[in-house]
Amino acid sequence: MNSTSSGPDTRKPSHLFYQSRLRRPLVARAEGIYLWDQSGKRYIDGTSGPMCVNIGYGNPRVNEAIKRQLDQTSFAYRLHFENEAAEELARELTAQMPGDLDRAFFVSGGSEAVESCIKFARQYALATGQDQRRKVISRFPSYHGGTLGALAVTGYEPLTAPFAPMMESMPKIPAPTTYLDRDNLSPEQRGLKYADLLADAIEREGPESVLAFLMEPVGGASTGALVAPDSYYGRVAEICKQYGVLLIYDEVMSGAGRTGRYLAADHWGITPDIVALSKGLGAGYAPLGAMIARTPHVEAVLDAGGFMHGYTYAGNPLACAAGRAVLHELLDHNLMENATLRGEQIQAGLRRLAERFPFIGDVRGKGLLVAFELVSDRATMAVLPKELNAYQRCVDLAHEKGLIIYSRRTRGGIEGDHLLVCPPLIVTAAEVEEILSIIADTLATFAQESGL
Ligand code: PLP
Repeated sequence: MNSTSSGPDTRKPSHLFYQSRLRRPLVARAEGIYLWDQSGKRYIDGTSGPMCVNIGYGNPRVNEAIKRQLDQTSFAYRLHFENEAAEELARELTAQMPGDLDRAFFVSGGSEAVESCIKFARQYALATGQDQRRKVISRFPSYHGGTLGALAVTGYEPLTAPFAPMMESMPKIPAPTTYLDRDNLSPEQRGLKYADLLADAIEREGPESVLAFLMEPVGGASTGALVAPDSYYGRVAEICKQYGVLLIYDEVMSGAGRTGRYLAADHWGITPDIVALSKGLGAGYAPLGAMIARTPHVEAVLDAGGFMHGYTYAGNPLACAAGRAVLHELLDHNLMENATLRGEQIQAGLRRLAERFPFIGDVRGKGLLVAFELVSDRATMAVLPKELNAYQRCVDLAHEKGLIIYSRRTRGGIEGDHLLVCPPLIVTAAEVEEILSIIADTLATFAQESGL
């Protein structure tokens, strides 16, 4: 039927297309952390879709809120009417933000949120007489979205290379992949070393030309939940301040509670200048994203003639009503605390599995944004032979065994296999054990097949 179940595919040819010809099972229903296909097979969603279904599937409160909004009005254009759902979500969402990050601009997804951050930063520079500032430094590896502006700041060659002639690629510095470093530095020193690469890049590019620095505080799929040493975050913020460079946190994946705090920035007490959010904000119930900006910056842009940017569905009432109910669920059920506890349980379980499977390399992450690498040698972190296709094989084996996990054969530009384990924030301790047991089974089959 597809790459992960047996039997011929008897379905009609599809008029839909995505990345490849591969056909996936038709989904029949979903509830909690589970999905069922049309044959009745049950899957645990060990990756919350693409790390977005933060409160699980079929939440009655969110469904009810969407229906209520639908009965009232599904749409009202933001240039003609204000709507209460967007107003209230902006109020409640910015209450979760540190400092004066008090203003929200709603969009429909992560790429739009990142585009909005970049365009807002540029308009702030223009509004304050800093016309030369136009370069956005970002990191390598990284992923910031699929639109051309977001791709220009994405550090992931397979996705950017085909479009390189069509966009101005922005300067990149290495993300702190410190687990690959073989120096004698302490974690703190390593963090500072990587942060100082930002100061070097600003000097190299010409400080007057640098508009912003964009980073994922906890990496997503491109790096496999990369967390920097603590010292990195404060030093980066200091460097940005010193050079008058805006600090943009892409929290599309790490935000909305996934790492155990509403923003991953909260772990390090950082107040970025601009934040991109999406994924867990609508949590799979509605396409929703947001740019959150600081009041003085917003006022400067509005004073200078307005924010020249917008989308038809910006501040959509249905999406905002869903987002509001998602936020209430997250807060009322202490799901961020659960993310911390269950994330620790997953990391501890993976470390136990590493005693049994020597090809498990680094285990890392924060809250329920967790990843582990598959390597041929843990001491050197050397990668597995490409022919093993380890990441895809493990995903397929897990799928057969009823667990959905996420993977990449990449550390950005560097080859390597990693798997992400990021279930919804409602996952229970018993469900985590079930996930770990299927991962153990998957790795045992993979080891046997591959002679590892
Ligand atoms: N930024 C980050 C960190 C992401 O992980 C993603 C998606 O995976 C995006 C931006 C783009 O979001 P979307 O796919 O909703 O456009």
